[in-house]
Amino acid sequence: MNFLEERIVKDGIVKEGNVLKVDSFLNHQMDIELFDQIGAEFKKRFADKNINKILTIEASGIGIACIVAKHFHVPVVFAKKTQSINLEGEMYVAEVESFTHKCKNQVIVAKKFLSEEDHVLIIDDFLANGCALQGLIQLVTEAGATVEGIGIVIEKGFQSGGRIIRNLGYPLESLAIVEAMDSETGEITFREQ
Ligand code: 5GP
Repeated sequence: MNFLEERIVKDGIVKEGNVLKVDSFLNHQMDIELFDQIGAEFKKRFADKNINKILTIEASGIGIACIVAKHFHVPVVFAKKTQSINLEGEMYVAEVESFTHKCKNQVIVAKKFLSEEDHVLIIDDFLANGCALQGLIQLVTEAGATVEGIGIVIEKGFQSGGRIIRNLGYPLESLAIVEAMDSETGEITFREQ
């Protein structure tokens, strides 16, 4: 097990409905030393890529993306979630369905912060069905920018997102891939990488 898998086993809680709760170190209370290790690992995995910007989605991706960005020495842009519809013109807009909240949101990025000159590393905390990632990819594509890579902290390998994104040809690196989890026993199994 790598450092992250060990931490998930130690502090992660398996909830019903295929939800893994990691709010004691990842998405509510945040362990910045762990984030720093995550940043170093992504820097290693994407060492050959020429990345000048990190893109994530609010809210839980922002903290991780900021620490990852320290390792790449680049700025972070986060896509904002919004309900409003009349944003054409100055914004790139994509639609995202939330796995955890079961609702649809628009995500937006101001055009001035993403352009065809950008080589983007997309960072997010979780990959489940891939809706959030597909929204972020759409924003990058709309801007004419390039997706150089995608870094995910925890992928739930038993949901379809990872397969869809890899089949589209994007370089996707997940630091932990949960193959199975059981809400009764709390047992978590990881994919060998
Ligand atoms: P997707 O769009 O890939 O279906 O879901 C990704 C988003 O849903 C992530 O940004 C994350 O915030 C949230 N998410 C999905 N599954 C889980 C989970 O098991 N636990 C937590 N804490 N968040 C999740």
